[in-house]
Amino acid sequence: MKSDIEMKRREFVKVGALVAAGAALLPREAMASELAVLPDLPYKFVALEPYIDGRTMEIHHGKHHAAYVAGLNGAYEKMPDLAKKPLEDVLAALPAVADESVRMILRNHGGGHWNHALFWKTMAPADKVGKISEKLAAAISAAFGSMEEFKVKFGEAATKRFGSGWAWLVVKDGKLMITSTANQDNPLMKGLVPDGEVGVPLLGLDVWEHAYYLKYQNKRADYITAWWNVVNWGLVSEMYEGA
Ligand code: MN
Repeated sequence: MKSDIEMKRREFVKVGALVAAGAALLPREAMASELAVLPDLPYKFVALEPYIDGRTMEIHHGKHHAAYVAGLNGAYEKMPDLAKKPLEDVLAALPAVADESVRMILRNHGGGHWNHALFWKTMAPADKVGKISEKLAAAISAAFGSMEEFKVKFGEAATKRFGSGWAWLVVKDGKLMITSTANQDNPLMKGLVPDGEVGVPLLGLDVWEHAYYLKYQNKRADYITAWWNVVNWGLVSEMYEGA
């Protein structure tokens, strides 16, 4: 019969071997858990109707956004260290990524993932958009004259963006500004957008045709006007106050 000490030693070796095997698997597991994930919509596809139709939401989220997530994960597989950083930090330091093909994937697909994640959460069903805070309302009036003037100026930025891109409400050092970017660029992308337009986006409007064409066809201005009905001012106010 084996002594207790011998039994314990054997158990120890067995557990040690499992730990060693686990350690060998860890980098792969850790990487998998750090891959980008398509966020669920915080409402149903049809919840933004009649302003944004359910079929557009379904394709936009399930096909377009999903493709950006898949593309970004392709970059993460090539450069796993990037996946360990917050995406905001990666996007703010794109010029530092030496590999041009990875840099372009991060810009287009990383930008696409980040932009759409913001887009979904800053919208809500029209009866659940929340109220703008007094602080944000005052900041908008101070920066743009009034809420009405802000909407006109933001709408101009969104309408005049030629081709595909985004219009943004951005905060930098407490100051608000309206900007627009092409493709999936965004105001976090220091070194890629003009220095004076770098900041933290509070609100972004997707003006790619895929965001509105099924319902609005070439009438981008009608889509922009309709979109104000589903802007989640409650959340945007929280973001402004936390910025
Ligand atoms: Mn889009």
